[in-house]
Amino acid sequence: MLKNKKVFILGMARSGFEAAKLIAKDNKVLITDIKEQDQEQLKVLKDLGVEFILSDNPTDLLDSSYDLVIKNPGIKYTHPTVLKAKELGIEVINEVELAYDYLDKSVKIIGVTGSNGKTTTVTLIYNILKMDGKSVWLGGNIGTPLCNFVKDIKKNDILVMEISDHQLCDMKRFKTNVSVLTNIYEVHTDFHDSHERYVKTKLKIFNNHTKDDIAIINYDNKEAVNNTNDINSTKYYFSKESQQCVYLKDKAIYYKDEMIIKTDDILLRGIHNLENIMAAIGVVKLFDVSNDSIVKVLRSFGGVEHRIEYVRTVKGVRYYNDAKATNCESTVTALNSFDEPILLILGGLDRGHSFEELTEAMKNVKEVACYGETKMRIKEYCDKINKPCEVFDNLKEATNYLIGKATKGDIVLLSPACASWDQYEKFEDRGNEFKEIVNSLKE
Ligand code: ADP
Repeated sequence: MLKNKKVFILGMARSGFEAAKLIAKDNKVLITDIKEQDQEQLKVLKDLGVEFILSDNPTDLLDSSYDLVIKNPGIKYTHPTVLKAKELGIEVINEVELAYDYLDKSVKIIGVTGSNGKTTTVTLIYNILKMDGKSVWLGGNIGTPLCNFVKDIKKNDILVMEISDHQLCDMKRFKTNVSVLTNIYEVHTDFHDSHERYVKTKLKIFNNHTKDDIAIINYDNKEAVNNTNDINSTKYYFSKESQQCVYLKDKAIYYKDEMIIKTDDILLRGIHNLENIMAAIGVVKLFDVSNDSIVKVLRSFGGVEHRIEYVRTVKGVRYYNDAKATNCESTVTALNSFDEPILLILGGLDRGHSFEELTEAMKNVKEVACYGETKMRIKEYCDKINKPCEVFDNLKEATNYLIGKATKGDIVLLSPACASWDQYEKFEDRGNEFKEIVNSLKE
């Protein structure tokens, strides 16, 4: 725990705010941001004795009198203030690492990282442990910052954490008991400057591990396997293709010799989600949960909000919300998750990107309804590949059109392959609008 230190918090956001609140009583805290902040939050901080300075030149505010810099995970390690801190010999950490020091050592930490599937995997792990009656918390890159509730976590509780590579970047002391690496893919990131550096950062999820700690790794992802050869953890693998600790065989998921669940009984769709489920089973089995708890969750969990999320079935038509699909790659994943005929809603912000990448996955699509800035380009694309496509001004009209066209056994899917900012502030808003329309349908 931090005491009698002079702390410089770079970047407010929710994590900076919560970090400041956690340490304000015992330390002298300055928080700085380039943007105006919410007046109510500033009042809370002021009452706690935290100084806030609005500045577009935080580097000049930092001097050698500070003991510690806490930076927002989104700020790059090449930021001038971070570089100055290093030059002055001041330690730079992030909010998660700060919170870590407040945890009792008996708390079991499960950390999940990877290029894709983090949120789904941590949510599954959390739901299964909770279903089994364990005292479990969910945090990290999901929901409320850890600093907000770290003091409520009791001895021997379990903490499930989604850890982004931005967070891993600044981790030093942080150590999990169980770490999951879902996969490593080539991602479009300028944060890490190179793929090599990105991979190196991901591997920090195994930092400080000894053979008493567990690593759960995707056996089918060569980059994940090859890069974890030298970690100190005890390794368990999951695989769709070969018999590992958790594996897929004859349309069922097995843990060692034990059949856990038939894939037909799983509500989540998509091969990629079977990977996330296998990773989650690999973890929860270490905590002695009953198969009954696992099965109950897998039969009822319809997905994380806005990620191929099952919404409802009306008159034999099933509705799915994949509003998070802001690029073609994600929409391909969603399309490949269904064998049924699909009525697809596409559209949104025009970044000039091509839709050609969708073509192979479009085989089950019966009809497209498009809207937003990209609508005319989507129409042109659909004409080219001979898919029926209707053009609309907005999501509501597009959704209502497909509701009218869908027949029993069809899937109506919002997976727009574009960002939302032409008509919405964030992708969640279009997902919520779609769900409202679907939820208002009469049986
Ligand atoms: P993250 O938290 O890593 O962004 P999510 O669980 O939120 O991952 O899933 C986001 C999207 O990533 C999903 O809608 C899907 O398109 C894709 N995805 C999820 N899990 C996987 C996986 N295991 N492998 C490949 N793609 C995945």
